[in-house]
Amino acid sequence: MRQTMWYGEKTWAWNPIAQRCTQISPGCYNCWHLGMADRLMKNVKMSDELRHAYGTGKPILVQRRLTEPLQRPEPTLIAVQFMGDIFHDRITSAMRFPVWEIMEKAAHHTFLILTKRAGSMAEWCRLHQYHPSQNIWMGASIEDQQTADLRIAEVISTPAAKRWLSIEPLIGPIDLGVHGLLNIDWVVVGCESGPERRPCPNKWIEDIVKQCKAARVAVWVKQIQGNPQPIRDAGAFPMALRIREPGDYYDD
Ligand code: SF4
Repeated sequence: MRQTMWYGEKTWAWNPIAQRCTQISPGCYNCWHLGMADRLMKNVKMSDELRHAYGTGKPILVQRRLTEPLQRPEPTLIAVQFMGDIFHDRITSAMRFPVWEIMEKAAHHTFLILTKRAGSMAEWCRLHQYHPSQNIWMGASIEDQQTADLRIAEVISTPAAKRWLSIEPLIGPIDLGVHGLLNIDWVVVGCESGPERRPCPNKWIEDIVKQCKAARVAVWVKQIQGNPQPIRDAGAFPMALRIREPGDYYDD
Protein backbone atom coordinates (compact mmCIF):
# COMPACT_ATOMS: atom_id res chain seq x y z
CA MET A 1 0.00 0.00 0.00
CA ARG A 2 1.18 3.53 -0.49
CA GLN A 3 0.30 6.71 1.32
CA THR A 4 -1.90 9.14 -0.56
CA MET A 5 -3.14 12.67 -0.09
CA TRP A 6 -6.84 11.88 -0.47
CA TYR A 7 -8.42 12.55 2.89
CA GLY A 8 -5.71 13.59 5.27
CA GLU A 9 -2.28 12.29 6.04
CA LYS A 10 -3.36 8.86 7.14
CA THR A 11 -5.07 7.70 3.95
CA TRP A 12 -3.50 4.72 2.19
CA ALA A 13 -4.22 3.32 -1.24
CA TRP A 14 -4.81 -0.42 -1.62
CA ASN A 15 -5.26 -1.75 -5.13
CA PRO A 16 -5.46 -5.53 -4.88
CA ILE A 17 -6.80 -5.88 -8.44
CA ALA A 18 -4.86 -4.98 -11.57
CA GLN A 19 -7.44 -3.69 -14.02
CA ARG A 20 -8.16 -1.18 -16.72
CA CYS A 21 -11.42 0.67 -16.17
CA THR A 22 -13.61 2.21 -18.88
CA GLN A 23 -15.26 5.60 -18.97
CA ILE A 24 -18.88 5.76 -17.92
CA SER A 25 -19.81 9.44 -17.42
CA PRO A 26 -18.40 12.96 -17.92
CA GLY A 27 -16.49 12.76 -14.63
CA CYS A 28 -14.24 10.19 -16.33
CA TYR A 29 -12.96 12.45 -19.13
CA ASN A 30 -9.69 13.30 -17.41
CA CYS A 31 -9.34 10.02 -15.49
CA TRP A 32 -5.89 9.74 -13.83
CA HIS A 33 -6.25 5.95 -13.56
CA LEU A 34 -6.38 5.49 -17.33
CA GLY A 35 -3.22 7.59 -17.76
CA MET A 36 -1.50 5.51 -15.08
CA ALA A 37 -2.73 2.25 -16.65
CA ASP A 38 -1.25 3.40 -19.97
CA ARG A 39 2.11 3.86 -18.30
CA LEU A 40 1.95 0.53 -16.43
CA MET A 41 1.02 -1.48 -19.53
CA LYS A 42 4.29 -0.30 -21.09
CA ASN A 43 6.42 -0.95 -18.01
CA VAL A 44 8.83 -3.73 -18.99
CA LYS A 45 9.73 -4.32 -15.35
CA MET A 46 6.25 -5.72 -14.75
CA SER A 47 5.12 -9.25 -15.59
CA ASP A 48 3.31 -9.82 -18.89
CA GLU A 49 0.21 -10.81 -16.93
CA LEU A 50 0.12 -7.51 -15.05
CA ARG A 51 0.87 -5.42 -18.11
CA HIS A 52 -1.90 -7.22 -19.93
CA ALA A 53 -4.36 -6.48 -17.09
CA TYR A 54 -3.55 -2.76 -17.27
CA GLY A 55 -3.96 -2.92 -21.04
CA THR A 56 -6.92 -4.59 -22.66
CA GLY A 57 -6.59 -7.95 -20.89
CA LYS A 58 -8.55 -9.55 -18.10
CA PRO A 59 -8.31 -7.98 -14.63
CA ILE A 60 -6.38 -10.06 -12.11
CA LEU A 61 -6.38 -10.31 -8.34
CA VAL A 62 -2.77 -9.75 -7.26
CA GLN A 63 -2.17 -12.18 -4.39
CA ARG A 64 0.86 -10.38 -2.96
CA ARG A 65 -1.16 -7.16 -2.64
CA LEU A 66 -4.25 -8.81 -1.22
CA THR A 67 -2.98 -9.27 2.34
CA GLU A 68 -1.30 -5.85 2.65
CA PRO A 69 -3.89 -4.43 5.11
CA LEU A 70 -3.20 -7.34 7.50
CA GLN A 71 0.47 -6.39 7.60
CA ARG A 72 -0.30 -2.87 8.78
CA PRO A 73 -0.90 -2.82 12.56
CA GLU A 74 -1.94 0.82 13.05
CA PRO A 75 -5.59 1.72 12.29
CA THR A 76 -5.65 3.34 8.86
CA LEU A 77 -8.15 4.87 6.44
CA ILE A 78 -7.72 2.78 3.30
CA ALA A 79 -8.94 3.76 -0.19
CA VAL A 80 -9.89 0.50 -1.90
CA GLN A 81 -9.18 0.00 -5.60
CA PHE A 82 -9.24 3.69 -6.49
CA MET A 83 -6.90 2.58 -9.30
CA GLY A 84 -9.99 1.56 -11.26
CA ASP A 85 -13.49 0.64 -10.15
CA ILE A 86 -14.19 -2.48 -8.09
CA PHE A 87 -17.74 -2.62 -9.49
CA HIS A 88 -16.66 -2.53 -13.11
CA ASP A 89 -18.42 -5.33 -15.00
CA ARG A 90 -15.13 -7.14 -15.70
CA ILE A 91 -14.45 -7.63 -11.99
CA THR A 92 -15.98 -10.93 -10.96
CA SER A 93 -17.39 -11.93 -7.60
CA ALA A 94 -14.53 -14.45 -7.37
CA MET A 95 -12.20 -11.44 -7.28
CA ARG A 96 -14.36 -9.35 -4.95
CA PHE A 97 -15.00 -11.98 -2.27
CA PRO A 98 -11.34 -12.30 -1.15
CA VAL A 99 -11.10 -8.50 -1.01
CA TRP A 100 -14.13 -8.37 1.28
CA GLU A 101 -12.72 -11.21 3.41
CA ILE A 102 -9.53 -9.25 4.03
CA MET A 103 -11.47 -6.07 4.85
CA GLU A 104 -13.57 -7.96 7.38
CA LYS A 105 -10.50 -9.59 8.92
CA ALA A 106 -8.66 -6.26 9.14
CA ALA A 107 -11.36 -4.78 11.36
CA HIS A 108 -8.93 -2.25 12.88
CA HIS A 109 -8.86 -0.35 9.56
CA THR A 110 -11.59 1.69 7.87
CA PHE A 111 -12.04 0.86 4.19
CA LEU A 112 -13.50 3.27 1.63
CA ILE A 113 -15.27 1.66 -1.31
CA LEU A 114 -15.96 4.08 -4.15
CA THR A 115 -17.62 3.43 -7.50
CA LYS A 116 -19.26 5.18 -10.39
CA ARG A 117 -21.29 1.99 -10.89
CA ALA A 118 -23.46 2.43 -7.83
CA GLY A 119 -26.30 0.40 -9.35
CA SER A 120 -23.97 -2.59 -9.74
CA MET A 121 -22.79 -2.15 -6.16
CA ALA A 122 -26.35 -2.15 -4.81
CA GLU A 123 -27.28 -5.13 -7.00
CA TRP A 124 -24.19 -7.15 -5.99
CA CYS A 125 -24.92 -6.55 -2.30
CA ARG A 126 -28.54 -7.61 -2.76
CA LEU A 127 -27.59 -10.72 -4.73
CA HIS A 128 -25.09 -11.87 -2.12
CA GLN A 129 -27.19 -10.83 0.86
CA TYR A 130 -24.32 -8.71 2.04
CA HIS A 131 -24.25 -7.97 5.77
CA PRO A 132 -22.58 -4.60 6.34
CA SER A 133 -19.33 -4.52 8.28
CA GLN A 134 -18.77 -1.54 10.54
CA ASN A 135 -15.38 -0.80 9.02
CA ILE A 136 -16.44 -0.79 5.33
CA TRP A 137 -17.92 2.46 4.02
CA MET A 138 -19.73 2.20 0.72
CA GLY A 139 -19.77 5.18 -1.59
CA ALA A 140 -20.40 6.57 -5.03
CA SER A 141 -18.58 9.13 -7.08
CA ILE A 142 -20.83 11.81 -8.61
CA GLU A 143 -19.96 14.89 -10.60
CA ASP A 144 -23.10 16.75 -11.75
CA GLN A 145 -26.87 16.79 -11.31
CA GLN A 146 -27.49 13.88 -13.64
CA THR A 147 -25.07 11.51 -11.92
CA ALA A 148 -26.30 12.68 -8.50
CA ASP A 149 -29.89 11.87 -9.47
CA LEU A 150 -28.87 8.42 -10.68
CA ARG A 151 -26.33 7.28 -8.14
CA ILE A 152 -27.31 8.71 -4.75
CA ALA A 153 -30.47 6.60 -4.59
CA GLU A 154 -28.37 3.51 -5.41
CA VAL A 155 -25.92 4.26 -2.60
CA ILE A 156 -28.80 4.74 -0.18
CA SER A 157 -30.21 1.36 -1.19
CA THR A 158 -26.83 -0.32 -0.57
CA PRO A 159 -26.53 -2.03 2.82
CA ALA A 160 -23.67 -0.32 4.65
CA ALA A 161 -22.60 0.79 8.11
CA LYS A 162 -21.72 4.13 6.54
CA ARG A 163 -22.39 5.62 3.13
CA TRP A 164 -20.46 8.38 1.48
CA LEU A 165 -20.26 10.49 -1.67
CA SER A 166 -17.19 11.70 -3.48
CA ILE A 167 -18.27 14.79 -5.44
CA GLU A 168 -15.07 15.13 -7.36
CA PRO A 169 -14.50 16.38 -9.94
CA LEU A 170 -17.43 18.72 -9.41
CA ILE A 171 -18.27 19.89 -12.94
CA GLY A 172 -21.72 21.41 -12.45
CA PRO A 173 -23.91 22.76 -9.65
CA ILE A 174 -25.73 20.05 -7.71
CA ASP A 175 -28.97 20.27 -5.83
CA LEU A 176 -28.84 17.19 -3.63
CA GLY A 177 -32.57 17.50 -3.02
CA VAL A 178 -34.56 17.15 0.16
CA HIS A 179 -33.91 13.44 0.48
CA GLY A 180 -30.56 13.38 -1.30
CA LEU A 181 -28.57 13.26 1.88
CA LEU A 182 -30.84 10.89 3.73
CA ASN A 183 -28.65 8.11 5.12
CA ILE A 184 -25.48 9.62 3.73
CA ASP A 185 -22.77 10.03 6.39
CA TRP A 186 -19.96 11.78 4.60
CA VAL A 187 -19.44 13.99 1.54
CA VAL A 188 -16.07 14.80 0.01
CA VAL A 189 -16.09 17.59 -2.56
CA GLY A 190 -13.49 19.15 -4.81
CA CYS A 191 -12.65 20.62 -8.19
CA GLU A 192 -10.91 18.78 -10.99
CA SER A 193 -7.11 18.54 -11.30
CA GLY A 194 -4.88 18.35 -14.33
CA PRO A 195 -4.11 20.47 -17.37
CA GLU A 196 -7.57 19.96 -18.90
CA ARG A 197 -9.51 20.60 -15.72
CA ARG A 198 -12.99 22.04 -16.10
CA PRO A 199 -14.21 25.12 -14.21
CA CYS A 200 -15.58 24.72 -10.71
CA PRO A 201 -16.63 28.06 -9.20
CA ASN A 202 -16.35 28.19 -5.42
CA LYS A 203 -20.09 28.92 -5.32
CA TRP A 204 -20.84 25.32 -6.41
CA ILE A 205 -18.73 23.97 -3.55
CA GLU A 206 -20.26 26.43 -1.08
CA ASP A 207 -23.73 25.19 -2.07
CA ILE A 208 -22.72 21.57 -1.38
CA VAL A 209 -21.26 22.58 2.00
CA LYS A 210 -24.48 24.44 2.91
CA GLN A 211 -26.63 21.45 1.97
CA CYS A 212 -24.45 19.13 4.05
CA LYS A 213 -24.55 21.48 7.05
CA ALA A 214 -28.34 21.75 6.81
CA ALA A 215 -28.64 17.95 6.73
CA ARG A 216 -25.95 17.42 9.45
CA VAL A 217 -23.75 15.43 7.12
CA ALA A 218 -19.97 15.56 7.59
CA VAL A 219 -18.24 17.34 4.72
CA TRP A 220 -14.61 17.48 3.61
CA VAL A 221 -13.59 20.13 1.10
CA LYS A 222 -10.61 18.55 -0.61
CA GLN A 223 -9.48 21.12 -3.13
CA ILE A 224 -10.76 24.27 -4.82
CA GLN A 225 -10.09 26.01 -8.09
CA GLY A 226 -6.89 28.06 -8.16
CA ASN A 227 -4.59 29.66 -10.65
CA PRO A 228 -2.48 28.13 -12.08
CA GLN A 229 -3.10 25.00 -9.95
CA PRO A 230 -6.00 23.82 -7.74
CA ILE A 231 -5.55 24.83 -4.09
CA ARG A 232 -5.20 21.88 -1.72
CA ASP A 233 -4.09 23.69 1.43
CA ALA A 234 -7.31 24.30 3.38
CA GLY A 235 -5.64 27.24 5.13
CA ALA A 236 -5.67 29.06 1.78
CA PHE A 237 -9.40 28.45 1.16
CA PRO A 238 -12.01 31.19 1.70
CA MET A 239 -13.38 30.88 5.25
CA ALA A 240 -16.72 29.39 4.10
CA LEU A 241 -14.88 26.49 2.47
CA ARG A 242 -12.34 25.84 5.21
CA ILE A 243 -14.08 22.73 6.38
CA ARG A 244 -12.65 19.26 6.75
CA GLU A 245 -14.82 17.00 8.84
CA PRO A 246 -13.92 13.30 8.95
CA GLY A 247 -16.57 10.72 8.10
CA ASP A 248 -17.25 9.94 11.78
CA TYR A 249 -17.69 13.62 12.70
CA TYR A 250 -21.34 13.25 13.74
CA ASP A 251 -20.97 9.85 15.43
CA ASP A 252 -22.37 9.83 18.94
S1 SF4 B 1 -14.96 5.05 -13.37
FE1 SF4 B 1 -13.23 6.04 -12.34
S2 SF4 B 1 -11.48 4.78 -12.83
FE2 SF4 B 1 -13.09 4.24 -14.28
S3 SF4 B 1 -12.69 5.52 -16.05
FE3 SF4 B 1 -14.15 6.61 -14.76
S4 SF4 B 1 -12.90 7.94 -13.46
FE4 SF4 B 1 -11.57 6.38 -14.35
